[in-house]
Amino acid sequence: MEQQRKQKMAVEEQQHEQVEEMQQGPTPVEQLQAAGIASIDVKKLKDAGLCTVESVAFSPRKELLQIKGISDAKVDKIIEAASKLVPLGFTSASQLHAQRLEIIQITSGSRELDKVLEGGIETGSITEIYGEFRSGKTQLCHTLCVTCQLPLDQGGGEGKAMYIDAEGTFRPQRLLQIAERFGLDGPDVLDNVAYARAYNTDHQSRLLLEAASMMVETRFALMIVDSATALYRTDFSGRGELSARQMHLAKFLRSLQKLADEFGVAVVITNQVVAQVDGSAIFAGPQIKPIGGNIMAHASTTRLALRKGRGDERICKVISSPCLAEAEARFQIAVEGVTDVKD
Ligand code: ATP
Ligand code: MG
Repeated sequence: MEQQRKQKMAVEEQQHEQVEEMQQGPTPVEQLQAAGIASIDVKKLKDAGLCTVESVAFSPRKELLQIKGISDAKVDKIIEAASKLVPLGFTSASQLHAQRLEIIQITSGSRELDKVLEGGIETGSITEIYGEFRSGKTQLCHTLCVTCQLPLDQGGGEGKAMYIDAEGTFRPQRLLQIAERFGLDGPDVLDNVAYARAYNTDHQSRLLLEAASMMVETRFALMIVDSATALYRTDFSGRGELSARQMHLAKFLRSLQKLADEFGVAVVITNQVVAQVDGSAIFAGPQIKPIGGNIMAHASTTRLALRKGRGDERICKVISSPCLAEAEARFQIAVEGVTDVKD
């Protein structure tokens, strides 16, 4: 009798969890069928990379019209159905405040750095990390691939990581070393990182379509693009191609923002810097600036600048963020990833 009761409770608990998960996660695009959209049209949306109702609801009408085989009238029906499932209207600031409190921060591996980041790298938005070569961008990305898998109470995101590598500098071996520090099983940690090498800017953009369909299936906490701009420098050259480059980059960054909005993943992109050529360099020594101009500056919610300190020491400065102060933190790159400075 007692056993039956316990079993019943366990089943109820499981159902409850499933319902909660459904309510929290993104809505699969198939649910538009229940709202009267034909399955063949749902498939067309999916083929165009729109795997969730959210992605449909966030898309401008113009973009939906570009999908082959979907007529003007159908687009209107789809928009209506999507906006019923995913309301996009006004909400109260108190409701927004409650939602913001639910945002998870992923630990950087350094307590001092987490402090200036008020917990770590934020999920649901884009964080850009820029800095000169060897400043630690890739090492921080590797550390986050491991920490995002930790339980929430240990500063993790309880999800998998996705890594788009445009420079060929991803090293699984480093993840194993970092996993050991956090007491995680090495092979499990590697299984939880989906990796893709990007070969050109078109390919890099296409990978985001695949990313979206994988994120519908499994809970990812982190999306890395290291670096987001390197391929743009090689694919587009000279002033003549500057505006084409910026347009392509803007579209890529918009797709990343969409992933952050739809799936609540933390998007972390790295960026290189160039020496600034203007009068100020003469007085203040060589100044550096991140590449990608205004397009890049506006796309990232939080910008972090890394620079080298003494030896393995690195300094991170919060450059722009909607709610963090412009503070600096010191950290160190060690065998076990990003850590506090070991004096
Ligand atoms: P780039 O612009 O060239 O991509 P980056 O900012 O990505 O540079 P990283 O590759 O993250 O730079 O950092 C390189 C630094 O990390 C080097 O100084 C290197 O010595 C250090 N590093 C790499 N692996 C280890 C390790 N296992 N133990 C300690 N330090 C390491
Ligand atoms: Mg690097």
